[in-house]
Order: sequence, then structure tokens, then C-alpha cells
Amino acid sequence: MNNDSRAADFSAMSRLSADIDLDAEGKATGFVRVPHSVHRSAYGWIPIPIVRIKNGTGPSVVMQAGTHGDEWEGQIGLGNLIRTLEPRHIRGKLVILPSANFPAAMAGLRTSPIDEGNLNRLFPGDPEGTITQQIAYWIEHKLLPGANYSFDFHSGGSSLTYIPSALAPRHDDQARMAKVIGMLKAFGAPVSYIAAVPQGFPVPPPSPTRLTEIGGDDYYVYASDGGLFEPLVDLGAEVKAGQPAARIHFHHTPWREPETLAFKRAGLVLCKRVPARCERGDCLFHLATDIAG
Ligand SMILES: [Zn+2]
Repeated sequence: MNNDSRAADFSAMSRLSADIDLDAEGKATGFVRVPHSVHRSAYGWIPIPIVRIKNGTGPSVVMQAGTHGDEWEGQIGLGNLIRTLEPRHIRGKLVILPSANFPAAMAGLRTSPIDEGNLNRLFPGDPEGTITQQIAYWIEHKLLPGANYSFDFHSGGSSLTYIPSALAPRHDDQARMAKVIGMLKAFGAPVSYIAAVPQGFPVPPPSPTRLTEIGGDDYYVYASDGGLFEPLVDLGAEVKAGQPAARIHFHHTPWREPETLAFKRAGLVLCKRVPARCERGDCLFHLATDIAG
């Protein structure tokens, strides 16, 4: 194989491979094998669970979770789906990758303990890179091509808890923005919000959701110092500008008066950091505000 033909066939460059046929009919469970030679296992591989469910022709959908290993809700949800969904329930194909960054998931961490890789920040990946870069490359070049829709389930992980919600990208183009809002209504999460994220989605028909958006820095409350974070409001609260958001208590000097932080603007509390410890610069809360839709 010369260099030109290698460059043309990106998927062939990946060291990763699924041990099930992702295009065959019916339901199959298996693993994406990530070659990883370590002291404990010289010729070993990391097994990333993967499931294919296919019934004839129809849309091709990819669902993944565990891109951040400590975000447990999506991983449990997709596990439940794997155990209950059968080919007769669908038309088309669904491929489920419930713990995409499997090493991170096994460690209960946002990032991989092997290379500190944050899978969500490593696309389109590198076939010759670190383990997490190789996983990103395989997902981008082998799993996603040919899929009509893809869903990536995230949550707040170890440091944040979110109100159940759907996130979609903000577009300058009004027609595209209208499609995104249509998609959010179709998905029907209790709250939907729009922020600057890199990817777009296609559309379907409407159902009720509260449409909100995240604006600039004033939507966020950050820790001004390291300490013990005491939240003063809960998820779903409607807050006013200037309202106290949190107190930071000082572990080393508990006799020191805690620092009180306030919201910079009014809004819905969409996301809250999980107590206890915070460091200066950690996000403690972020707000969303309603938009017309
Ligand atoms: Zn995440």
C-alpha cells in the first residue's frame, strides 16, 4: 500500500476494531478492541462494549454515553436500552456505545487514567496518538460515517448536577436555528437550552419544552477562592440579580467568615456544582434564560 492510498482510507489506519459486524441484521453484543500493551498484559486490549441492533432498512442511529467516564446517567440509560430493545422494536439500525471512554468509566473519572485524555475534546482524533485519541479517531472515522443521527449523552459528572435537559447548538443562520428549535421540541426534554457548541442536528415535529439559552459570562457563578462550597439555591430555582448563590467556607481557617457569592443576573438555575470542595475558578452554577420559540 503506498502513502496515497493509505491517506485515502482513514478507517483502515485505525488500530481499533469491533469484534461484531456493525452492519449485520439482528442484535449482537461485543467489544471494540483497543490494543494496549502494559505490564499486566503484554498483548492485551481494552474492551469497549458495543451493541448493534438492526432490523431491515431505515435510519442509522448511533447512541453513545460515557464520553466522560464519571457521567453515569447516560451509561445506565443506554444499558437499560441494551437490555430491553430488540430488533423487532425498530426499523433501521442502532449502534450503542454506552461507555465510550471505557478506561475513564472504569476509573469513575471524567478523563482517562491512561493518558488524561478528555475524549470530548479530542475529536477528530489521531490513529497514531494516545489511547483516548485513538478512540476518538475510531468513533469519528469508523462509527459515525453512514449514521443519519447521533446522540451523545452527557451529564454533570462528579462536579456538577444538571436539571434534566437537552442542549443544542446556537446558529447565526435563522433557518438552521429554527430547525434546531424544532428538534428540541421533538425531543421534549423538560428544559431545552441553546449554547455555542460545534454540531448541528436535523428536525422532526413538535412537543412542549421550555426553551432557554445561555448567554455570556454573567450566566455563570465561579468560585472566588478554594474551600467548602455551600449552595444556597437548588436546581430549577428562579433567581434574581444580586441574589446570594453560594457560600465558600474555609477548611483551614473555619473561624474565617465564609465568602458569599451572588448571581450576576436573573435566570433559571440550570446547573449546580456538587459539593463539597471547590477550587478558585470552578463553576458553581450556571443559569439559563427563556427565549421565544
Ligand atoms: Zn460530558
